[in-house]
Amino acid sequence: MAVSGKSLVLGVFGDPVAHSLSPQMHARFAESTGRDTVYVPFHVRAEGLETALEALPSLGIGGVNITVPHKEAVYRLLPQHSEAAAAIGAVNTVIVDGEHLRGDNTDADGFRADLAAQLGHTGWESGPVMVLGAGGAARAVVHALVAAGVPEIVLANRTPEKGQALIDQLAPERGRAVALASAEVQEAVGRARLLVNTTSLGLKGERFEGLDLTALPTTAGVYDLIYNPARTPLLREAEARGLAVANGLGMLVRQGAISYARWTGAEPAVEPVLEWLAHELGA
Ligand code: NAP
Repeated sequence: MAVSGKSLVLGVFGDPVAHSLSPQMHARFAESTGRDTVYVPFHVRAEGLETALEALPSLGIGGVNITVPHKEAVYRLLPQHSEAAAAIGAVNTVIVDGEHLRGDNTDADGFRADLAAQLGHTGWESGPVMVLGAGGAARAVVHALVAAGVPEIVLANRTPEKGQALIDQLAPERGRAVALASAEVQEAVGRARLLVNTTSLGLKGERFEGLDLTALPTTAGVYDLIYNPARTPLLREAEARGLAVANGLGMLVRQGAISYARWTGAEPAVEPVLEWLAHELGA
């Protein structure tokens, strides 16, 4: 679709941003909804972040996504947040409403929608769900699991104090934090209905040492937020055992589609974008 004087300008702030697939993804969202939008990658460095945010209303920009490394900084800079952004403590979507900016976070909704789409409702909602990791992505995942009503969440992190802080804040009543390399992890694996990897371990093909998936019930699902490679050793191992598996490509596309819908009111088609991206990444 050609850019016109009437096009609604959207974009992404990141550093770096040149590698981002979001402009192509959002071009496809515009195509599927018939909306006249254009999505621009803005290379914004930390020192220019506040100025860039302040300029959004004057430039008539409809909204931007926020990516690495600015999600937490934008959360601190904006006075208004959605419930999800406030819980997660990070902003991935800025909504421009007249002169006002609101920080939102669509990662949790994207994860929840993709979990349902890829693994169906196979009983994981009744828990226990095991989450590996305690970084920004884990915060979105735990927020989503709490919103879905999962009654028991076991979070395993390499640095257990970080896991405990996350549980204390987001799931004090139904969560428990354990150290990644501990006997408690193996006990929790044996009962888990769903295992979610939110760590960056596996991006370079690494394995979780000391995590024995053979203990997972045969009805359990395994979701890895990593999508490149399409199959981490964790997913390959789970797949070899016949478990239902999914990678994070759908979460990536769905969080983008939800942002697009919040900016424009139009819901883009997700499946063709998923197919295109999987092909693009050689998955
Ligand atoms: P982050 O805030 O830096 O957190 C990284 C997490 O990984 C921490 O829990 C860290 O443990 C753990 N970790 C790192 N190296 C490890 C190792 N060698 N062994 C065990 N644990 C290790 O990163 P993030 O923003 O949460 O992102 C995490 C991953 O999720 C990335 O791969 C990212 O690409 C992916 N992600 C995907 C989507 C999607 O849409 N699919 C969205 C967001 C993120 P410590 O606390 O002990 O350091």
